[in-house]
Amino acid sequence: MAHSLSPVARHPDPPPASPSVLICGQLLDFLADPGGVSDTEAYRHQVNGALWILDGRIAAQGARETVLAHIPAEILARTQRYDYGEHFVLPGLIDTHCHYPQATALAAPGKDLLDWLNRSIYPAEAKLADPELAAQRAEYFLERLLAHGTTTASVFATAHAHSVDAFMAAAEKRRLRMLCGKVMMDCCTLPALSENLEACARDCNDLIDRWHGRDRLRYSVTPRFAPTSSPEQLALAAALLRSRADLHLQSHLAENPAELAAAALRHPGRRDYLDIYAQYDLLGPRTIYAHGIHLSAREEAVLAESGTAIAHCPSSNLFLGSGFFPLARRHAAGVRIGLGSDIGAGTSFSMLRSLHAAHLVAQAQGGPLSPWQGWYLATLGGARALGLEHCLGNFEIGKEADCVVLDPFALPELAARLRQRSATETPLADTLFALMLLGDERCVRAVHILGEVQQPA
Ligand SMILES: [Zn+2]
Repeated sequence: MAHSLSPVARHPDPPPASPSVLICGQLLDFLADPGGVSDTEAYRHQVNGALWILDGRIAAQGARETVLAHIPAEILARTQRYDYGEHFVLPGLIDTHCHYPQATALAAPGKDLLDWLNRSIYPAEAKLADPELAAQRAEYFLERLLAHGTTTASVFATAHAHSVDAFMAAAEKRRLRMLCGKVMMDCCTLPALSENLEACARDCNDLIDRWHGRDRLRYSVTPRFAPTSSPEQLALAAALLRSRADLHLQSHLAENPAELAAAALRHPGRRDYLDIYAQYDLLGPRTIYAHGIHLSAREEAVLAESGTAIAHCPSSNLFLGSGFFPLARRHAAGVRIGLGSDIGAGTSFSMLRSLHAAHLVAQAQGGPLSPWQGWYLATLGGARALGLEHCLGNFEIGKEADCVVLDPFALPELAARLRQRSATETPLADTLFALMLLGDERCVRAVHILGEVQQPA
């Protein structure tokens, strides 16, 4: 399992996209976690702002006139310009947990997580034994993701190796920064999705060789979750994760009480769910688990200490009745948190709709989701949760220039609300809160990847 040559070394930098691009609009990005309140040090806001992008990376940002003055005249003359007026220009939205093969299974029937998996999802994933279907699904998924303003995601494929090939090829074609991995499962109720250990190891190693570090793509070791992986397979996941210094790991944790019981049955003798993963050294700053709802104080503390991230997937949790993720409590404990759609248990690709659901879940536990925390989670918080903050998440100089343009007046209901300002909030806080609660993919005016525009489908 040792590798002498890392593909990362063969592809140190993405090749240049559009050489020089200027994007004007109302800039908003985060520099730090704002917590639950308006921390004016945590974000930057520029009403009449501009981003200058050179070779796909942020070269300057700030007030429009200042940025324009910064660009040498000979470069300015050949710069592609986009002026979005008062529309918001934000870093591309980041979905920290989703499943591309489930993109056509939204709103599939199921009583709860395990029933839904067995009844609807495993059969849907088994169909991707057909490579042609996998390619179609990957194209569809990425089209929809971009149409919703999401530019980076941590994505589960299926147990079929070619399902990762299909996704990575579709993402590479669009020059997207994406994480993806082959789902590892050897204890499944559907034999078509179970695999033997040797084949799994061979497939994963081949996929890592083929895709990890190629252009903007990264491989994430992807055991589905403890109930469907044998101890030997979790040990293999750990060995794969350690085989390169910069691989990622994604899985699920403590979504549903019946899942907790199934995990304990499969892995007896551990003190709790997280201890199963800890036993195999599957915690750490490049690891993200979806959900993390039903955890003890001990597990919460271990997550924080180990730097292991959680993907908060509120629309999925509401759809399956899995429970309410205690965001304020996990945040206060120091757990890194990102936002996830969890397509297809989530009911929408939209991070705006996910923020709406996150607010409902927060209110059910006694407090609203502040717009600061919400928009942080969907941008820099997501980049941090995935270990990608060195290249994504805000408009710091040198970062990759993926951004989304949002029109807060795109919807009649939102426009009417914004003409009726809150008497107690600042205009920016009020706008961001209304956008979070009432906005959706119809507010996405444009998406730029490495500066280059990609009109939503
Ligand atoms: Zn999931």
